[in-house]
Amino acid sequence: MASLFKGSPALAPRMFGWLVGLAAILLMSSAAHASPIQVEGLRVVGDASRARIVMDVSDSPDLRWFLLRAPHRLVLELTDVEYLHDETAASPRGLITDIAFTDAGGAKSRMIVTGEGAFVVENVDIMKNEDGAGYRVVVDMVAGSDRQFEAALADQIATTSVTSAGQAPDVPRFTIVIDPGHGGADSGARGVSGVLEKTITLAFGLELKKALEDLDRYDVHMTRDRDRFLRLDERVRIARRHEADLFISIHADAIRHRDVRGATVYTVSETPSDAASAAKAIRENLADQLAGYGSPEESDEVSGILADLVRRETDGFSLRFANALVDSLSSEIAMIKNPHRFAGFQVLKAPDVPSVLVELGYLSNAADEAQLRDVEWRAQATAGIVGAIDRFAGGRIGSTE
Ligand SMILES: [Zn+2]
Repeated sequence: MASLFKGSPALAPRMFGWLVGLAAILLMSSAAHASPIQVEGLRVVGDASRARIVMDVSDSPDLRWFLLRAPHRLVLELTDVEYLHDETAASPRGLITDIAFTDAGGAKSRMIVTGEGAFVVENVDIMKNEDGAGYRVVVDMVAGSDRQFEAALADQIATTSVTSAGQAPDVPRFTIVIDPGHGGADSGARGVSGVLEKTITLAFGLELKKALEDLDRYDVHMTRDRDRFLRLDERVRIARRHEADLFISIHADAIRHRDVRGATVYTVSETPSDAASAAKAIRENLADQLAGYGSPEESDEVSGILADLVRRETDGFSLRFANALVDSLSSEIAMIKNPHRFAGFQVLKAPDVPSVLVELGYLSNAADEAQLRDVEWRAQATAGIVGAIDRFAGGRIGSTE
């Protein structure tokens, strides 16, 4: 892992995007609406240097926006709206050369605003009308340079995921790397009935991949999709190579206390949450040595203030996902007491990839082991993880924290 940070052209803009992107508001949501929100008016005003789009809406809409290049476009995506506006008032002018509407699937529709060359989006606001009747969406665009447009696009790529297939080819989708623990010579733990951890984690990982791919809004990769050995640093490298937005390592441990059961979510920390988690991290970090592959270099390559900022950013995202995961998983399967724990797991140490390790249950507990072998139980656990990913990925689109 010595060269992970240095010599990685992908990291700098990505990092920049994360930091800058904190200020960007790309998603504004409100409670779900029973009936469509009506777009009663749509006006475009301005000239070649500046444009304002004003949309009169019956209620506060779910709105997100993103940029596309070639030509320079702003896409306003609204959920569950009905356009009733007078089209003449919405005719393009000045900085805006075209306005088009497309159906984006589900209840989503997109208003695609084409600029006369590059522009900068100054703000996208949703405001309550002073007379209390309805809301206004106000979008301000100002002519800008190609460099500014590209910088905004780079921020967007680094901080968001546009999750509809095909229609936004310039924006990568939210990418998840699933890491089935152990494999090959490293079998991991052994269950009370003899099942091996590496077998359970692979089966689960493949099922999770399929469940995510069925949604058609994520790019999903596996660190391994068959029974083979992989060093811990190779797993981290695979996550970084795919520029993953999320890395999930799947495990099913065994411990001496056979009555201990339930799922646990781990994040990385130099200070372990408890002795059991510290021991767990030591066990998992030994996987390389147990398989006879020697110890990878200690990952001390990430240093300096900028790297610390990235690391802290990443840790924040990891914690946020871990919270969502505990919340979502606990409605599907049994969790251990204090289900979010932390320790120094090597496999969670990518500096720029939010990472968690999920201990699905204990192979040393007969009831847990039976569940881990049960495809229906695994489907429930999968649903819990998918729910958390949906929430986390949605939040990343409009993160302002
Ligand atoms: Zn394990």
